[in-house]
Amino acid sequence: MPAVVHYALREGGVELREVPVPAPAEGEVLLRVAAVGVCGSDVHTFHNTQSWPANVPVVLGHEFCGEIAALGPGVKRFREGDRVVSETAAEIDEDSPQARAGLYNLDPHRRGFGNARDGGMASYVRVPARCLHRMPDELATEVAAYTEPCCVAYNAVVGNARVRPGDVVVVIGPGPIGLLCAQVARLCGAGAVMVAGTARDRSRLAIALETGATHALELGASDPMELLRGLGDGGGADVVIDAAGASSALASALAWVRPAGTVCKVGWGPQPLGFSIDPLVQKNVTLQGSFSHNWPIWERVLRLLASGQLDVRPFISRVAGLGDWRSCFEGMADGLLLKAVLKP
Ligand SMILES: [Zn+2]
Repeated sequence: MPAVVHYALREGGVELREVPVPAPAEGEVLLRVAAVGVCGSDVHTFHNTQSWPANVPVVLGHEFCGEIAALGPGVKRFREGDRVVSETAAEIDEDSPQARAGLYNLDPHRRGFGNARDGGMASYVRVPARCLHRMPDELATEVAAYTEPCCVAYNAVVGNARVRPGDVVVVIGPGPIGLLCAQVARLCGAGAVMVAGTARDRSRLAIALETGATHALELGASDPMELLRGLGDGGGADVVIDAAGASSALASALAWVRPAGTVCKVGWGPQPLGFSIDPLVQKNVTLQGSFSHNWPIWERVLRLLASGQLDVRPFISRVAGLGDWRSCFEGMADGLLLKAVLKP
């Protein structure tokens, strides 16, 4: 079968290859992939700029859905033909303290699809049944393939930043995760949601305003402090979500958050900070990380997608066949595409 394979730890070390169809092991299913999202992390991998350990060769893709083509031994909850979406924690230690607490996303032994183990950018992928959720009938496959980034945003906004009705929320970074965070913040009842980006992000800021953000801030063009003085009581943001990751984004977050507010960091950035975080102390701010997601988040996000309360369609810039993977990756790297979804 054709598969998008990360084969070398160097710039451009990804290609379309023929690989064997895998066989499902005990407790696994063979999934016929219907749609798989291209993540910013896949694009980083293509350019060898990822800030996490990568294993090669591996089939990329961790945002996928499909139909069960075959059952491995011991699978009871599913049948052939079921439409399902898959979580990303392909391998975990089910006896780790984190897994026992339901926080298997934080299990240090967690190994993900498309990184440690073959992912969904192929005709077929083998998946532990533990990872699967039933896909609501009304969900289109390209929307279902978007469940995973929605879960990242849900965990950041609801689980970790704990946005409350009436909050003033700022989201830094209008990439797919940032735009989803803005939408989820509105679902939480945030009174004002400002999305901040650079001049390069202008078209994404326009999408932000169409999909739930109340304000957009183009850095360099307008004064963020002046905009913030016009929101709520003018004292700053109750919550700032850093969905960008660069050190300068955290510096801005600490400047924009109000005393006793929260900064939630969901964007990665491998570089040292290079500035003082004293404002964190002076303003009594909570700095909170957010990583991945778990079962109850997936179930809730699937309901939000099925009901249309969460609408990801404006974010899907291109749906293409697996053979067009390269132009999709390049389009996302160049910022021309916000999000591409491949249909193997
Ligand atoms: Zn991802």
